[in-house]
Order: sequence, then C-alpha cells, then structure tokens
Amino acid sequence: MKKITIAIDGHSSCGKSTMAKELAKRVGYIYVDTGAMYRCCTLYAMRNNIAPADLVQHINDIKVSFQLDPETGKPLACLNGEVVENEIRGMEVSSRVSEIAALPFVRSAMVDQQRLMGQDKGVVMDGRDIGTTVFPDAELKIFVTASDEIRAQRRYDELKAKGQEADFLDILNNVRERDYMDSHREVSPLRKAEDAVLLDNSNMTIEEQNEWLMQRFNERTAE
Ligand code: C5P
Repeated sequence: MKKITIAIDGHSSCGKSTMAKELAKRVGYIYVDTGAMYRCCTLYAMRNNIAPADLVQHINDIKVSFQLDPETGKPLACLNGEVVENEIRGMEVSSRVSEIAALPFVRSAMVDQQRLMGQDKGVVMDGRDIGTTVFPDAELKIFVTASDEIRAQRRYDELKAKGQEADFLDILNNVRERDYMDSHREVSPLRKAEDAVLLDNSNMTIEEQNEWLMQRFNERTAE
C-alpha cells in the first residue's frame, strides 16, 4: 500500500496527540509530536536563563529527538539526548511555549527538522501548522477542535493522572491564551487548511475518534 503523509492540526489540548499516536501504531507509521519540539525549545531557554529574543544565538544547539518508552511503547521527548517528557508538560512550560513558538527563527529551525523526519512519508505529525506550512501537500489533513471547557478538563485529568499539580481555571486560561496567541502570530498562524477535514470531538469517546480517523485513513489510501 502506498504511504501517505498525515497532518493533524488544531486547538490546544483537544486530543490530537492521542489520536495521532493511535493511528500511527495501527498503520505502522512514524508519529511526530511537533508541540513537544516547541516545548523543548522553551525548556532550554528557561533552564539556561535565555530571553526569547536571545535564543537565536542558541537555536542550533537545540536538538530534539524521540525515544520509545520501553515499558509503555510511547514516544518520549528528548532535549539534547535527555528525556524531558515530564518537564515539558508542566504549566511553567505551557505558559511560555506560545511566545517561543511565535519566534520566526525557532519555527524555521523546527520546521526543517520536521520536514526531515517526514521526508519518506509514512508519518503522522500533529501540531498547528503541519497541513498549512510543514507539509502543505499532505494527502490527509485533519483539523481538530473541541469546546474550551472540555479541553481544559482533559488536560487537568492528564496532569492529575501523572501526579502533577493542576488547577482547572489556570489550565482553562492557558488553553485560551495559547489558542489566541497561536492563531494571531505572524508566522504560520494556527488555521484550518482549506482541504483539511474538520473534527469536533467534544462529544466523542477516544474509541469513536480513533475509528473516525481510521476511516478517513482507509478512504484516502484506497483512492
Ligand atoms: O501541541 P502542544 O499543545 O504540546 O503544543 C504546545 C505549543 O507549541 C502550542 O500552544 C503552540 O504554541 C506551539 N506549536 C506550534 N506549532 C506546532 C506545534 C505546537 O506553534 N506545529
């Protein structure tokens, strides 16, 4: 069967990575979480006390990679070889990442790495600009959204399950702020590509959305 490129974009915390990971596993594709890459850049700036604009001098020192968790089989984000999966998901990084992700030099460095990772197709990539900028020719593009409250609740549950600190209202504000910043930045703002299929999963279970996505995949690869 021919391999295709799958771009899954959408609002913050709407389950993009859950569905992207599951599809990649089912069809044997590579999964790339591009949000984790911007989160790693943010963590690097925070740890080294670098102001956003000064990151330009360090951007080539930031290498993001993924390794599989031997227990769960899930991908773990690595910053310069160190697993930083938990650090990048906390509220501190979440509240700063959209500012870092709006910097043109950060985007261009990450987009170069993303294009390399997906150059042989057979990839499911999730983010904000995959279908519009990174792979505008992707054969299957999905744009995912859900209500603000439902997205904040999912993020809250996710953090709590990992034993991390979480406050529902802080998370709701963070989700709204990131959506606003991501949609209003100058370079590659978050928007639905014209040829993307819209999915509002507010009232769907994870199983239902996995099935829905699998059907889209089957349709596209049968063409
Ligand atoms: O997907 P996730 O919520 O982890 O992404 C974190 C942040 O990274 C987003 O709020 C956005 O600011 C940025 N991002 C981006 N472009 C992408 C993926 C994520 O600007 N392709």
